[in-house]
Amino acid sequence: MTTAANIRFIGGGNMATSLIAGLIADGYPASAIQVSDPSPERRHALQARLGVRALASNAEGLTDAATLVLCVKPQLAASVCAELAPLLADQRPLLVSVMAGVGEQMLQRWLGAPLPIVRAMPNTPAMVQTGAIGLHASPEVDAEGRNRAETILRAVGLVRWVTDEAQIDAVTAISGSGPAYFFLFMEALEQAALELGLDGETARLLTIQTALGAAKMAMESDDPPARLREQVTSPGGTTERALAVFAEADLRALVARATRAARDRAVELS
Ligand code: NAD
Repeated sequence: MTTAANIRFIGGGNMATSLIAGLIADGYPASAIQVSDPSPERRHALQARLGVRALASNAEGLTDAATLVLCVKPQLAASVCAELAPLLADQRPLLVSVMAGVGEQMLQRWLGAPLPIVRAMPNTPAMVQTGAIGLHASPEVDAEGRNRAETILRAVGLVRWVTDEAQIDAVTAISGSGPAYFFLFMEALEQAALELGLDGETARLLTIQTALGAAKMAMESDDPPARLREQVTSPGGTTERALAVFAEADLRALVARATRAARDRAVELS
């Protein structure tokens, strides 16, 4: 029997663990969450840490779930879908896939049916419930299915729907790979702080707290980042001098080039 609240994770690695932890922190009952993973260590960790039922077989108990969340590595997508296909023939669960670069048509071909699919592109800050997640729904997904998918992904961060599946490649280039861009900037700022004579711990903490503070201000303010930047930039002051150096190197063009390269790579991989 299908119970609307039951969610089944296929693959219990890092992303599944973050999603399950987020759902439980949001008050979702652990008893309504099952996960299958061939690794005994993973199963033990999930059961011990989160209190969810962890199974060795993807087939076991599958029909109890109204929502399946595919959390295996993309290279396993075809074989896992082939394993699930005969078991899903008589039911139409909602499939939520977090697998990078695996398109909806591909999934439907492997599953042998036009099932309702939501494709999600989360990022690593989902592990600290501060993810930025792009979602796209196949035409088979109804409003209730969209809500269900959104509830799962909202447990680990901010969710934005895109209307065209190709836009998931842009999401990949912006928020999927984005944490690395900000980490790189933090590395550079920390290194610069050391060169300016600050000690290691001070350099690191001031850098990270500044990134956090800027992000928090940008998120909470009604003003766009450009206005916030102008507010820090007094004429003739220190910030103006630094920003002139970034402008000279055409930082904006560099960011545009880097994100286009990431988007093009996402297209190549899908
Ligand atoms: P992971 O390696 O931590 O987890 C994958 C899990 O799948 C492992 O626990 C493994 O034991 C299990 N597994 C292997 N074979 C299986 C099978 N046949 N059936 C069921 N489970 C099986 O990887 P992850 O980081 O959690 O990534 C999972 C998916 O999430 C990937 O497709 C990735 O593209 C996507 N994703 C991850 C992130 C991220 O930040 N980690 C971001 C975006 C997308």
